[in-house]
Amino acid sequence: MLVEVTGIVVSEETMPNDRKLISILTEDRGIVNCFIGVDKAESARFAAATSILSYSSFTLYKGRSGYRLNDAMTMKMFYGITAFLEKLYLVYYFNELVKYIVMEEDGDEEFLRLMLNSLYVLDNDKKPLLVVKAVFELRLMAIAGYMPDVLACRGCGAYEADEFYFDYDNSCLWCSYCCSAENTARIHKETLRGLRTVLLSEHKKIFSFSLSKNGIAELANLSENYMYKVTEKQFKSLEIFKKICDMEKKE
Ligand SMILES: [Zn+2]
Repeated sequence: MLVEVTGIVVSEETMPNDRKLISILTEDRGIVNCFIGVDKAESARFAAATSILSYSSFTLYKGRSGYRLNDAMTMKMFYGITAFLEKLYLVYYFNELVKYIVMEEDGDEEFLRLMLNSLYVLDNDKKPLLVVKAVFELRLMAIAGYMPDVLACRGCGAYEADEFYFDYDNSCLWCSYCCSAENTARIHKETLRGLRTVLLSEHKKIFSFSLSKNGIAELANLSENYMYKVTEKQFKSLEIFKKICDMEKKE
């Protein structure tokens, strides 16, 4: 049986007998794992469409032992990312995170939308890297069912205050009067505005906010800590991304 999917390859593994196994983040089937044959010419023919920077359409053959790639065609290539190592590692990290969070054969179309949106923003230099990273992390967790409550103070219901505290243990906000939780991060007004935009707006608007340098740092810390809290996992590509960014700061 032939199956058509659109999506982005998020990982590639070489298997015994030189076969390759790719994982595709698809629009409506979550992660789909699929084999590419041993034939070198065939591998080469699909190289562009199965790149992690290519949004492609795939025709898969579904057999008893899984999927096999039958055809693939690039629809959009995010070329602007390839020349920058830190952008590339950020994409590797997104892919690692997606593989960890998104289920096989079962996924919300929002996952792929978020990935495409983030690649587009990176490709076109629309936002600082730490903002793209924070938006991706927060929104991914939210789509996966780990939506923090950032609407108002859990104690008194206040929507506006000079500062709030984000409670990692209960994934909610407290104003400074109501806060007695321990595992918290302080967030200022502008950061909260950004946080609410990322989590509460429709997918087209998740990047439509800007923050000061301090606001970016605050949002980036919060999103990364929240990601660790949810996944309880270290990601290799994230460590490398951070090292590259540190090196560039020093230069
Ligand atoms: Zn309160």
